[in-house]
Amino acid sequence: MTQIFTDNWALMNFSILLALTCAQMVVVYAMIDANNPPAGLGLYTVFFMASLMGWIAYLLQQGSLPGVGVDVTMVAAILNSFILYMAAGQRSGDTRGRTVLGAVCMGAILCVFFFPPDAMLLILSGTIGISALATALLCLQRSVRERNAGDGIIAGACTLLSLGMAASASGVLAGLDSSQARDLQFALHGVYYALVVVGFLASVLIEFQQQLSQLSTQDPLTRLPNRRGLDESLHLTLAAAARHAHSTAAVLVDIDHFKTINGTFGHEIGDRVIQQIARALEHICRNSDVVARTGGDEFLIILPNTDLESARVLAERVRESLADYPILVDQQRIALSLSLGVSAAIGEVDIDALYDDVDKALYTAKQGGRNRVASVNHQPLQMNVGSRQA
Ligand code: GH3
Ligand code: MG
Repeated sequence: MTQIFTDNWALMNFSILLALTCAQMVVVYAMIDANNPPAGLGLYTVFFMASLMGWIAYLLQQGSLPGVGVDVTMVAAILNSFILYMAAGQRSGDTRGRTVLGAVCMGAILCVFFFPPDAMLLILSGTIGISALATALLCLQRSVRERNAGDGIIAGACTLLSLGMAASASGVLAGLDSSQARDLQFALHGVYYALVVVGFLASVLIEFQQQLSQLSTQDPLTRLPNRRGLDESLHLTLAAAARHAHSTAAVLVDIDHFKTINGTFGHEIGDRVIQQIARALEHICRNSDVVARTGGDEFLIILPNTDLESARVLAERVRESLADYPILVDQQRIALSLSLGVSAAIGEVDIDALYDDVDKALYTAKQGGRNRVASVNHQPLQMNVGSRQA
């Protein structure tokens, strides 16, 4: 066992980690959208490759290059701890401390040329310990912010490494044989590296899963909720309205002659117009209102605790704000108008029924000549025919 541990475990570690890294990178690269790769992917790839290089250097040093004067493995380990710090920073969008940590790592690497192996072991432990702790903090921060357990695993791996480095350094100071301390550090690096591989894969997979679930509830062009997102965000509001018999209003907004805008200015400008209108609607509405994109050039606004008359006032404000001022896109002034349908219901609200009502009201506004607001009173027990008022 001792024989296996001291002579061959680096080779075993290398084989396992090579297999793990290759499998992980194949999965990640097969999944990614090349136009929108996960943040930090490049630097994480460099980290994994540099780690493998470190192990190869170690194996060479153990076998065919016994007389190498500089401890290449130590240099690789320090460099790698810094690369992982940069990768974690890039992934979490936080680049603070790079210069300071880079200078510390560079200083530690230069020490290899001047200090004996025992002293070098302490310098290595300290530098890697600091780097790992800084990386753990970055990953922990991202893990909490993005609710991503994968980054939490990487933070755990780095914390473990940093504690292990502190333990082995204090062991050396307390008189532990430096080759035992070195074995401990290699074993720790093996566990740490495997955890980073698993953590990074988990982080990317969780991010994909989050993006997918966001896509199913959010319109990618305007970042507004889509119809499904609207249902989800209204769940609690509608339950409260039903309990307290509050009035809930809806406004359906449709751009007039949008096909002509697309035809005149092009589809791309058309997209920008839709985005600007989305922002304008969000700006005019209150925080408690929900604005959703429910069709190509159609938006649905749900106004909790609002009666029909107040909803009509808001709809008129929306109409005026865009009818009176042309939209400026790429230095082009685009004049447009909106037609709006309004309805309201008291107590328990069925969004589908309310949508039917605003859709009818919108139809009335379009029929009436566009650039206007029309409303319909929600009548749960009656057909809506005859209850329209333009
Ligand atoms: P109306 O006054 O009757 O509403 O006329 P309209 O031309 O606006 O007709 P309608 O609302 O039925 O058509 C909406 C058009 O919006 C159809 C489609 O070509 C365009 N459209 C739908 N989605 C998008 C989009 O994401 N981007 C762009 N640029 N255009 C879109
Ligand atoms: Mg339209």
